[in-house]
Amino acid sequence: MTNNQQFKAPSASYTLQRLPIIANDTLRAWDAADEYLIDTAYEIINARTNDEQSILLINDTFGALTLAFNEFSLDNWSDSYISHLAAEENLTINKIENEDNRIQFIPSTKGLSKKYKLILIKIPKTLSLLEDQLFRLKAHIDDDTKIIAAAMTKHIHNSTLDVFEKIIGTTTTSLAKKKARLIFATNDKSNTNKSPYPTKITDEKTRLTLINHSNVFSKDKLDIGSRFLIQHLHECPEAAHIIDIGCGNGALGIIAKRHQPNTKISFVDESYNAIASAKENYNLAYPESADDASFHESNALAQFSPSEKFPKTQLVLCNPPFHQVHSIGDHIAWEMFKQSREILETDGEIWVVGNRHLGYHIKLKKVFGNCRTIASNPKFVILAAKKLDKLNRSRK
Ligand code: SAM
Repeated sequence: MTNNQQFKAPSASYTLQRLPIIANDTLRAWDAADEYLIDTAYEIINARTNDEQSILLINDTFGALTLAFNEFSLDNWSDSYISHLAAEENLTINKIENEDNRIQFIPSTKGLSKKYKLILIKIPKTLSLLEDQLFRLKAHIDDDTKIIAAAMTKHIHNSTLDVFEKIIGTTTTSLAKKKARLIFATNDKSNTNKSPYPTKITDEKTRLTLINHSNVFSKDKLDIGSRFLIQHLHECPEAAHIIDIGCGNGALGIIAKRHQPNTKISFVDESYNAIASAKENYNLAYPESADDASFHESNALAQFSPSEKFPKTQLVLCNPPFHQVHSIGDHIAWEMFKQSREILETDGEIWVVGNRHLGYHIKLKKVFGNCRTIASNPKFVILAAKKLDKLNRSRK
């Protein structure tokens, strides 16, 4: 345990870790916005005479909010499988038992089922996710429900406040504290509109129709990096089983199956929205081949081993993420490359598309001992690395 894992809430002090765990990580698993939100929410709870404290947490990042309010009846609603896992692991580290299942982890793709007295929101990175959440939240607000949102000041824009005004009602903000700010929303706007998500786009070039839930990567048009890789998917080696890791709406895996109709595909992402989109899009593209695809919420491939749910894999497709919530970095790409190597059969390959400046060739070479360029343009590069058996690798 390190100093930057000691998290102090009004209820108690906790050890709080980020996920994935990175050696010598200096980043904390919470920020000043969490602290501001927790302190303010406790003032409200302490001032209440009513015992009923059903609390809804939306977008709790690594469990700071879950731990701070763990004695109450809590629903943790999030689009991030990793956030849910982090909160559960942090409860375990702190020896907090979830007796009577008072803490519920609800994926963003599932609806809420009750009304709440206190709703605490961490502002997500994607405005459309916030918009979707607020629309779906409307029916779960009582007359005396308090709604407080929080973020670092630099992540609160006019557009953020506009979404609260448009969907919930009168919206005000607090003073800034340690560069964090709170948003208070009063449910005084009658808005019976439904969430506009998921949306549907058709990409003319690939003839691909994509249903995109609110938090899906590049939901308004096919990402240019993905498009570049799609142009080269016919060159991939033949594979009985392909993994589309960090699949987003599933575009890469879906097009790969056009070139290899007999392949089985596993779609993997940490976003519930992404997995829901990939599933809907795959079923739209291949209504007759539902059995050829499987869909997994996962932190990279952490929960799989080749012998378990996954059949042997000959090809991994990857357009890696380069940030986790607001922090930028390549640690998830690293995890994806290392875990792909573990799961690939000898001679199996990973194909990666990325911005040239991200230098993925260096990482792939480190992990696989080899890397070749399939194609490049001024912005992107497509790289392939092969899993060699030990003998071949040592000869390289
Ligand atoms: N493959 C899609 C495409 O090409 O349009 C999406 C690529 S996007 C750059 C990266 C994806 O990785 C996102 O969908 C994100 O949710 C997912 N992701 C981020 N961290 C992840 C993790 N730890 N495990 C699995 N997926 C992750």
